Amino acid sequence: MSRVYNFSAGPAVLPEEVLKEAAAEMLDYKGTGMSVMEMSHRSKAYQEIIETAEADLRELMNIPDNYKVLFLQGGASQQFAMIPMNLMKNGEADYIVTGQWAKKAWQEAQKYGKANKIASSEDKTFSYIPDCSDLPISENADYVYICENNTIYGTKYKKLPNTKGKVLVADVSSCFLSEPVDVTKYGVIYGGVQKNIGPAGVVIVIIREDLITDDVPEYTPTMLKYKTHADAASLYNTPPAYGIYICGKVFQWLKRQGGLAAMKERNEKKAKILYDYLDESRLFKGTVEKKDRSLMNVPFVTGNPEMDAKFVKEAKAAGFENLKGHRTVGGMRASIYNAMPIEGVEALVAFMKKFEEENL
Ligand SMILES: *Cc1c(COP(=O)(O)O)cnc(C)c1O
Repeated sequence: MSRVYNFSAGPAVLPEEVLKEAAAEMLDYKGTGMSVMEMSHRSKAYQEIIETAEADLRELMNIPDNYKVLFLQGGASQQFAMIPMNLMKNGEADYIVTGQWAKKAWQEAQKYGKANKIASSEDKTFSYIPDCSDLPISENADYVYICENNTIYGTKYKKLPNTKGKVLVADVSSCFLSEPVDVTKYGVIYGGVQKNIGPAGVVIVIIREDLITDDVPEYTPTMLKYKTHADAASLYNTPPAYGIYICGKVFQWLKRQGGLAAMKERNEKKAKILYDYLDESRLFKGTVEKKDRSLMNVPFVTGNPEMDAKFVKEAKAAGFENLKGHRTVGGMRASIYNAMPIEGVEALVAFMKKFEEENL
């Protein structure tokens, strides 16, 4: 068996310990004589899995009691519709467009009401986070929407926008559990888990209870109402049962690592190794404003598409997978999520240094 260093933006690297545990429990989960994939989601064994997962997530993120935790399906992209359907009581919301995912969310919201783009960084290929200290927040806005970490462009909000009292909704898909967060600052925090937590197929929504109501447009499908899932503790229908089980294992792994404060420290250390090298390299350079750099997704270029392609090819041959940048940006991107060991980043930088020497 040989494992590569996987820098994929998602689905992405998972902790090896978790994969091993899951493998060991594959045929017989704790004496049930079956795998978690084969058991009823109404069984006692599964009940314990989902309840423990929720409790551990609540502990990790310090989620207050007046927030619900929902395990849903449909990807982060389905939330682009669920959020306006469920939250637009005045039929209006404000969007800050800092990348493709925020832009898609903003476009989708236009189907359900007035979605105002109140700031954007598209003028400079989304390479920065706009100043959000005094934005023209709409009086009637039901919420202000952000994508907190921009997976494709590699930027992150270091300070949350001043929403002037409006509810903040954040897509945290690619920075979920990468550092401590103050949940009380948000109305909704959500993300697809396939970036930094678990396997594709699960979306976690953390939502303040007063935002969960029956007051939604009549056409809203039952499955797209937060209330449906909140009332049934994420078991209205069959949930993505195996995926939730793996997420639960990752939560336990995170607790063993020392929780989110320890993850932040480790993530900062890892990102610094790569950014410090990018800042001194004569061949490679980072593509975003330093103050807005993501700890999770690190895009970089040589400035020469042929050299970029050569690098990606040689890196792959050396065991560094999925370094090619997003198809809309080009260049390279190293996603260094929680489960990427520090040795992976050190090895990548050593390889980049060697490549630089050989190609300058
Ligand atoms: C990957 C990603 C999405 C899309 O997720 P799906 O689960 O594929 O719908 C949305 N937002 C962000 C920030 C992402 O990184």
